Amino acid sequence: MERDGPSVQLGNGIEVACGDAKFFLDPRKVSEEAICCISHAHSDHMPSSFAGGPIHCSDITLRCMRGRVKSKKSRTFLESVELGSDPLVDATGAGHILGSNMFLLDAGQKVLYTGDFCPQDRLDIEGARPRRCDILIVEATYGNPRYKFPDRREMIKVIHDWVEDVLHQGYSAVLHAYPLGKSQELITMLRDFQPRLHGSVLDTTRLIESDDLRFDYLPFDPQDRDPQLVISPGAWGENGLSVLKKKRSADVSGWCLDTRERSLGKMGWGMDQGFAYSDHADFYEIIDFVEKCSPSLVYTNHGSEDMLAHEIQKRLGITAIPLKKEKKGQTNLGCYC
Ligand SMILES: [Zn+2]
Repeated sequence: MERDGPSVQLGNGIEVACGDAKFFLDPRKVSEEAICCISHAHSDHMPSSFAGGPIHCSDITLRCMRGRVKSKKSRTFLESVELGSDPLVDATGAGHILGSNMFLLDAGQKVLYTGDFCPQDRLDIEGARPRRCDILIVEATYGNPRYKFPDRREMIKVIHDWVEDVLHQGYSAVLHAYPLGKSQELITMLRDFQPRLHGSVLDTTRLIESDDLRFDYLPFDPQDRDPQLVISPGAWGENGLSVLKKKRSADVSGWCLDTRERSLGKMGWGMDQGFAYSDHADFYEIIDFVEKCSPSLVYTNHGSEDMLAHEIQKRLGITAIPLKKEKKGQTNLGCYC
């Protein structure tokens, strides 16, 4: 099948091209060959090399990248980067983590790239709003019908009550979460317990703070053994918390849905509890979002892309193609130019 319009394929991130217009979405390498758009600063979306050219991203994403890049050359480049302002790129909030963006591109046709996204408003984060487009490139992290998250506003209450109970019983409450995004949500939702931040959660939170963005917390102090709320990276980041002899720990992640039957007792990873609270869209939120964007073609990316493409075709009747690296001899279904 041939049709006019932009080509979409995996390469340096996701490459979208039509005529002279070329875009790299969440590229591994920022370059001047194309307009580079970076959705957010999680490591699976952040470039590892910064060679030149303007970048389209939010101020928070730029601050995070400046703090996280290792190479001196990249850091020098990022210190002087001009944030892109190009009429071909329209950035709006993705509702995933602070500073995360979606991009509506003018590539002959309107192409919307969601990056990681979440449509539900919560705490200080406004959910992603659908945008009408011709081609939608949508994330598929939870793109399987078995993923349906509990209402996040309900989960905020559940987590809050759990922390209160644990502290009331004379234990410390340790919540494990991604340092960037989920941890700051927890700081905000649990601020009345004055959370202590441990390890990379503390480093990352300091990184994204600015005059306009402040959080209420204390650094974790190993000398302080009183019952307290600690927010820590994943279970592998427990180092140093063994000084808290009486503690209860919980994982805060959408993946807790996979251990639901155990989440009321001992979780995997040695946790006492799991909370299925996610900053990604679940399967049903993705389907609803796709329908409201009303595209004629969808590319699924990053996760359960085969399953999601199949379900979009079946449920919405919209042509959907999983984005994959080409295998040798395989036709690139994603290229229509
Ligand atoms: Zn992410």
